[in-house]
Amino acid sequence: TQAHLDAMAATKELNAYIIETPDVALKQAADADARYAKGEQRALDGLPLGIKDLFCTEGVQTTAASHILDGFVPPYESTVTTQLFRDGAVMLGKLNLDEFAMGSANITSHYGPVISPWSPKDEAGNFTRKLVPGGSSGGSAAAVAARLALGATGTDTGGSIRQPASFVGIVGIKPTYGRCSRWGIVAFASSLDQAGPMTRTVKDAALMLRSMAGYDPKDSTSIDVPVPDYAAALTGDIRGLRVGIPKEYRVDGMPAEIEKLWQQGIEWLKAAGATPVEISLPHTKYALPAYYIVAPAEASSNLARYDGVRFGLRVEGKDLKEMYENTRAEGFGAEVKRRIMIGTYVLSAGYYDAYYLKAQKVRARIAEDFTKAYELCDVILTPTAPSAAFGIGEKMDDPIAMYLNDVFTVPANLAGLPGLSVPAGLSGEGLPLGLQVLGRPFDEATVLKVGHVIE
Ligand code: GLN
Repeated sequence: TQAHLDAMAATKELNAYIIETPDVALKQAADADARYAKGEQRALDGLPLGIKDLFCTEGVQTTAASHILDGFVPPYESTVTTQLFRDGAVMLGKLNLDEFAMGSANITSHYGPVISPWSPKDEAGNFTRKLVPGGSSGGSAAAVAARLALGATGTDTGGSIRQPASFVGIVGIKPTYGRCSRWGIVAFASSLDQAGPMTRTVKDAALMLRSMAGYDPKDSTSIDVPVPDYAAALTGDIRGLRVGIPKEYRVDGMPAEIEKLWQQGIEWLKAAGATPVEISLPHTKYALPAYYIVAPAEASSNLARYDGVRFGLRVEGKDLKEMYENTRAEGFGAEVKRRIMIGTYVLSAGYYDAYYLKAQKVRARIAEDFTKAYELCDVILTPTAPSAAFGIGEKMDDPIAMYLNDVFTVPANLAGLPGLSVPAGLSGEGLPLGLQVLGRPFDEATVLKVGHVIE
């Protein structure tokens, strides 16, 4: 824990943490030591983790990287962090993210952008180019890659665990929807949000996920199925496994290096005894537009609670209505406002059928595509993202270009399926690239097993 706290103090320029919690960390570490000395052993005893600042932590400020939550200190702890601490984990601090987890580059945070530790530096130690760590779990990704945490929690609504993991060369898994409790996690799009671990190895992800997962009566969408020993699944034996290669993921304009990486991944799995099979997910091209209707619609509803009365920031006005308006005008950033406007538009009378209802129908078709595909294969292999990390400042004024980043990750959220990103190679520029392994509902064990063969 102390070594990580020292590393954090020496690496402030990455802006990975919004708040460091050395007092909490040292107390938890001492407690873990004391229990260990008495012979008590817990799964994550003394392991120092960073917590994405979207998880409510009792007595520790929780911001969702938004100005509107200024001064909010939750009187409760999220279920996922409760379970991590129950198993002995230590909290180093709260990690930076895109505001309300909306973004793919960690550039919309009220607390400033996160810089990828892969950003090149000159001899004097100054950045010559600042790369994004991906988003929205950019602080989690940067911290784990830069050794500022042994592992971190992330959340993934449309790729926010997997895409940043790919950009910084770490492992990240979004479990099946319902596997980890959403209770106490600041809501973005409730039917898509899932928590998951971000770590340096697949085995670390397996161990962390086991603690994070499990049924929680406080989340009505939590599912009561047993949580297997994921680490025990990492046998390296994938003989006979059928790996689906979806033809629709060969999208126009995919860089040759991404195509090559994907082919390499297929070869590795073949060499380990798996059989590649071509599959079709015919509605793939509608996933991104459906996501960017469903996610903002749910966000606009979830974010209605930030009104200057219940949480955080209040900006006074001459009456109640003006106070609401002033608080929301000042408290939300540009991307969040854009999503609220899109969301309320697609939900409004007259447009609801054309947009929201249509998107829900598309969503059902996409889920059906996967159900059919899993009759022919056990897992699916794809690239995680269509490119390596880009520079801060690039794609910033073009929201659509930014949304395109999520083209390979959003289908798993729409269908509720588990998805893992595992580091698989380097781009021509020497930057990390990840491959994505998708699985059947609640079959994280096979997904992790396949990822372990690739890493
Ligand atoms: N990049 C996607 C978005 O901006 C996904 C974000 C996420 O998974 N939280 O909505």
